[in-house]
Amino acid sequence: MDRAGILQPLYIRVHPEDNVAIIVNEGGLQPGTTFGCGLVLVDAVPEAHKVALTSINLGDPIIRYGSVIGYAEVPIPMGSWVHEGVMRLPEPPDLNCLPISTAVPEPLPPLTGYTFEGFVNEDGSVGTKNILGISTTVQCVSSTVDYAVKRIKAELLPRYPHVDDVIAINHSYGCGVAIDAPGAEIPIRTLRNISLNPNLGGAPLVVSLGCEKLELSRLMPNGTFPMLAPKSYVVRLQDEEHQGFESMVAAIMQMAEGRLAVLNDRRRVTRPAADLVVGLQCGGSDAFSGVTANPALGYAADLLVRAGATVMFSEVTEVRDAINLLTARAADATVAEQLIHEMDWYDKYLSKGGMDRSANPTPGNKKGGLTNIVEKALGSAAKAGTSALAGVFGPGERVTKKGLIFAATPASDFVCGTLQLAAGMNMHVFTTGRGTPYGLAMVPVIKVATRTPLAKKWPDLIDVDAGVIATGDATIQEVGEHIFKFILDAASGRKATWTDRWGLHNEFVLFNPSPIT
Ligand code: CA
Repeated sequence: MDRAGILQPLYIRVHPEDNVAIIVNEGGLQPGTTFGCGLVLVDAVPEAHKVALTSINLGDPIIRYGSVIGYAEVPIPMGSWVHEGVMRLPEPPDLNCLPISTAVPEPLPPLTGYTFEGFVNEDGSVGTKNILGISTTVQCVSSTVDYAVKRIKAELLPRYPHVDDVIAINHSYGCGVAIDAPGAEIPIRTLRNISLNPNLGGAPLVVSLGCEKLELSRLMPNGTFPMLAPKSYVVRLQDEEHQGFESMVAAIMQMAEGRLAVLNDRRRVTRPAADLVVGLQCGGSDAFSGVTANPALGYAADLLVRAGATVMFSEVTEVRDAINLLTARAADATVAEQLIHEMDWYDKYLSKGGMDRSANPTPGNKKGGLTNIVEKALGSAAKAGTSALAGVFGPGERVTKKGLIFAATPASDFVCGTLQLAAGMNMHVFTTGRGTPYGLAMVPVIKVATRTPLAKKWPDLIDVDAGVIATGDATIQEVGEHIFKFILDAASGRKATWTDRWGLHNEFVLFNPSPIT
């Protein structure tokens, strides 16, 4: 990484082969600006946007992260602004000729002695919060459950001080859907597995209506959830015993109180960091994401993998263009094939809608210097650190392996977060360049800014400033270690994230690729 001074005009080149670099200075730089290395800007270049380090001929590759992010549509003079209008998108890597496990990293040395304080569940999973969750089979019951949750929080929760929260797992699925259509298994298993998230104590309550398509037996097939057998864990609103609304609410509250008493007896105990299931995500990315926050998070991911934890990265459209780097890192051919399967499934899903992965970057991503999905993907993949890819899971599946895992999800922040909760996530780290108040009720969400100006603008929303890497005030390793320790502290309830302090808890958003009827 080149650094051309701190207060002086500053750019960052990530890889020695790169012929573009991004501008660090807040507010961007004007034409005529001269860098320490002698490079002179011929255009105004906004902050985080790319400058040509050499003259690039028509048709020549534009290289960032050592990879081709596009081809010059016009001759690009040295020192000019390299933006969407002067380059064309390369083809994505062909899924039929990818390197399979050709560059599997050696296991990193184990890291021992790191622990957190968590709630141990009967199934062996460990919670970082102690929450009463109320699952729902259909949207029709949502408002009733919301009403009951309000009363539970006001009237019951104060008597159970060791329970952190009560949440309704509301959603728009359950009826009016083609429940046997291909793809319907995704929202159904997502709802099932969210109910089993470690932070809900492994045994949720369920409220159903009675006439919906998503019957209880389909949501929780026999054997998935033995604790559901006693009737005391389910309230079905249409049952004869409920004469009127107040009777339904009373039944939900009675059921909740039984569970609150059980949850209230639980205490945090010291557990190895290996019990963490950390979901990584980015949202509102910019061109700094791939040089500051994501590499620092990648460093933290490597520490977690070394400590034996599960680390999930996701967001199919944001790894699609870097897939050749990931299949090469797959622990074995089966893992690589599973990864290719998830990419192929998503290519087909997008093509049904007449789109491809280029639909991903947002106007804000582009304003933040990310020209296209290739550049975004290369920066996004940095979150995954450097270890071997140990496993791949489909959308909404519960992750059952340790190490670095790809849990396939759309990149949409809320859909990805919801699916990662279903995968069993008990800690979440979220990097952002443009800024977002995103938060989830079920797990602590640590927010990492890619740029110091964002961390300064939102000091009460951003937990970690990774922008100090761009200005040379800290190293990737230092910020990565800070994130790792923050994860252990937040998982233990010792340190509150800003989203939890404000109670910023976005709703669940299911991924339903099957038809609505
Ligand atoms: Ca996202």
